[in-house]
Amino acid sequence: MPETINVYLGIDLGGTKIAAAAVDVRTGERQVQLVVPTEAHEGPPAVITRIASLVDRVCDQANLRREHVPAIGVGVPGVIDPSSGTTLLLPNLPSGWRGVPLVAEMQRLTGRPTAIINDARAFTLAEAVFGAGRGMHSVVGMTLGTGIGGGIAIDGRLYLGLDGTAGEIGHMTIDPNGAPCGCGNRGCLETFASGPSITAMGLRAVAQGMTTQIGELVEYDLNKITPEIIMRAADNGDGVAREILQRAGSYLGVGVANLITILSPDRVVIGGGVSRLGEWILGPVHAEILKRCHVTPLNRVQVVPAQLGGEAGVIGAAVWAAQTSGTWH
Ligand SMILES: [Zn+2]
Repeated sequence: MPETINVYLGIDLGGTKIAAAAVDVRTGERQVQLVVPTEAHEGPPAVITRIASLVDRVCDQANLRREHVPAIGVGVPGVIDPSSGTTLLLPNLPSGWRGVPLVAEMQRLTGRPTAIINDARAFTLAEAVFGAGRGMHSVVGMTLGTGIGGGIAIDGRLYLGLDGTAGEIGHMTIDPNGAPCGCGNRGCLETFASGPSITAMGLRAVAQGMTTQIGELVEYDLNKITPEIIMRAADNGDGVAREILQRAGSYLGVGVANLITILSPDRVVIGGGVSRLGEWILGPVHAEILKRCHVTPLNRVQVVPAQLGGEAGVIGAAVWAAQTSGTWH
């Protein structure tokens, strides 16, 4: 079946949604994409069964026989053991999925070779091969959301380090004496510039009675404060909101500057929900890079927004399946 041999299944497992697509890995085009709720409270076995039946539905709609799918790739939001194909910790899913044999279960249920990859690494791979890093020698990917994830791709292949964790850029130390991070360290980049940390800065400003519109914009229901609300206040000229975004963007810029100094990459590709704050965040990032990088030829490094949007996850997972199943050239 030469027509279908390049079509792989890519899955993006999230805390609230599972997306699955049939992806032509020569072009990055998705033939069919379906999304279902994760229903993570039902536990790993039920969720894995749901993923497997989603695979069947995607195959049906793409007119693809499951046995003609060369391999399935699954992007997961957390830490995995690539050698055993188990999840070690998915912090946003109930129970944390410690030691769940995801690869073995998927292969048992679908009969197809399966590969798993961290979701930020899948994002990086997709952007490096088909998105904003296409054709570039070296690409650093960053996803700014609930956490800060990332990845490093060289010539369209991920650099994963010893155990798959290379690219965990959210956990680089930015302030040695900073606030505790969920990983066990203090002052990680994630504690300064993730969605929840930006929200927390807005909350604190309102709670401290600072002169800001942030409280007013959520009618003083402080649970409704989000980075987007803070951006709206900043757009309206709110000085406190502008300072919060400036602060988050500057810390992020310190992190990006460190990456540029270490890797001298062709492209740094920034995606994820927080990146929608646009210039409020990217402006300070660029300023910080100029201030801090003095040995790298900055005229050759581009820091750019992601191009593939929310679809990068499924595309990257499919490419990962192709690259690890030995059919990628
Ligand atoms: Zn950390």
